[in-house]
Amino acid sequence: MATYQLVRRGIPVTMLESGEDIQRGTLVRMAGRNLYRNLPPMTKPTGFVVTGDPETNFEYNYALGGLSNQWTGAVPRFCAEDFTAGEQVHEKYRWPVTYSDLAPFYAIAERTMQITADPSDVPNLPAGHCDYQHQVPQDWHSVRREALKRGQGFTTMPLADGPPFLFLRRGTSFNSYSKLLARLPGEPAFKLITRAHALRLEWDGQRKKVAAVVYCDRQTMAHQRISASAFIVACGPLNSSKLLFNSACSDHPNGMGNDAGLLGRYLHDHPREWWAVDVDTPLTSLSPPAYLTRLPHASSDPLLASSWTLGAFGTVGKIKSRFGKKTTYFGVQVFGTMVPEEKYYVGPAKDQKDEFGFPALEINISFDENVLRNMVKAREHLIQLVYDAGHRGTIREIVPTLFPGTAKHYGGAARMHASPKFGVTDGFNRLHEIPNVLAVDASCFTTGAEKNPTLTVMALAARSADRLASDLRAM
Ligand SMILES: Cc1cc2nc3c(=O)[nH]c(=O)nc-3n(C[C@H](O)[C@H](O)[C@H](O)COP(=O)(O)OP(=O)(O)OC[C@H]3O[C@@H](n4cnc5c(N)ncnc54)[C@H](O)[C@@H]3O)c2cc1C
Repeated sequence: MATYQLVRRGIPVTMLESGEDIQRGTLVRMAGRNLYRNLPPMTKPTGFVVTGDPETNFEYNYALGGLSNQWTGAVPRFCAEDFTAGEQVHEKYRWPVTYSDLAPFYAIAERTMQITADPSDVPNLPAGHCDYQHQVPQDWHSVRREALKRGQGFTTMPLADGPPFLFLRRGTSFNSYSKLLARLPGEPAFKLITRAHALRLEWDGQRKKVAAVVYCDRQTMAHQRISASAFIVACGPLNSSKLLFNSACSDHPNGMGNDAGLLGRYLHDHPREWWAVDVDTPLTSLSPPAYLTRLPHASSDPLLASSWTLGAFGTVGKIKSRFGKKTTYFGVQVFGTMVPEEKYYVGPAKDQKDEFGFPALEINISFDENVLRNMVKAREHLIQLVYDAGHRGTIREIVPTLFPGTAKHYGGAARMHASPKFGVTDGFNRLHEIPNVLAVDASCFTTGAEKNPTLTVMALAARSADRLASDLRAM
């Protein structure tokens, strides 16, 4: 997204991608329903060591488009309070960006994604731009009324699912390479080097800035060097901090952006749970899925929330939804939150090395009692809400996924904050200590709202790239 925005603003960009092609898959979409999706597998890369919850997952994807080869495409915006609510706990949890700062950049990202959504605001979820409109079916309106009584919204989950009819030889409609970069003008505006694994940033001690990036050409294993005026780090929330640790130099001996010891700290993730609900009265099958938004910030424990995505089961459920057919069961995915804490971190492992000879990345995170209790409350909350709406629901077996990494929503390891005391980057994603380096993926998140993160990552990346373009033009 940062590259897309910079090139649109006339700034030449060279992008290094560790992987090569987009991964192949299959997507068959008819009448606005994804009827068949065959996703390529994710890989567990080497170079990571788990020391927190032993079940911690860290699947990654070194491929053009990264994890957008696998993602679902749910793209809710954060709401205004998602950026400010944390300040009740401590000022370190206040983002240096407001919703209104970000709103125009949400729209830029959304316009690239061919989103299906309901174009109306609901509590705790501002509406965004959508190309295709969809409303939750009429017989779910009693659920919507009950949600509203509690200060929650019940609406269509905004999904970057593309046009109603699609047959693709990849697993997802929106792949960040094919949708953002494939059609950008070629050199000198945009140059893509694949199989180029960025190893470290090179410090210029005289000019007190980063002067170059050193990468490993995976084909020849030779090290190459590229100089530039600014460097955008967007390796995904774990690998970005790894690159900054790898870039330790005489002036920043503990890693770039780590003078206050914050790099890697405040790692957080979404606890995620999946279960099916049987209801005693048939309801229209939900495809696209519906989204029950969080409880109001004012009546919730600070930084603890849940969101619920309710959807049809399998292809049959999706076909049923197309014809307004009813069903007595639906699937629910819940995302909870955790209060980001300094004690959860990523950092260089003591002994193990990665394939390039740099320290492996130690991941230390687990979900505490509050987080797990919040997930149990989320089950009870939905069942009660559906009951009050006139449907007795029973939860079937709960899929055991309550360990870090299953949501693939890590964030926080290079957090943004107005003060270098609490943040690695400033409000435009620039390292406080080294402003010609930007970290623009979810590593910059100050807190993790209960919403899927990628749209917000894209909006932040577009905004900081936009600012960088203005600054570079003014130089
Ligand atoms: C099954 C699944 C479903 C998901 N569903 C959703 C969803 O519905 N909504 C949502 O918001 N999010 C979802 N996500 C999460 C979403 O995919 C990620 O948030 C998003 O892809 C993160 O983008 P990124 O570019 O920051 O990181 P990545 O997608 O991980 O991309 C990082 C890129 O950097 C490259 N790279 C890494 N290290 C280096 C290096 N040293 N040098 C050069 N290149 C490097 C990688 O090869 C990769 O291309 C889902 C993820 C999965 C796996």
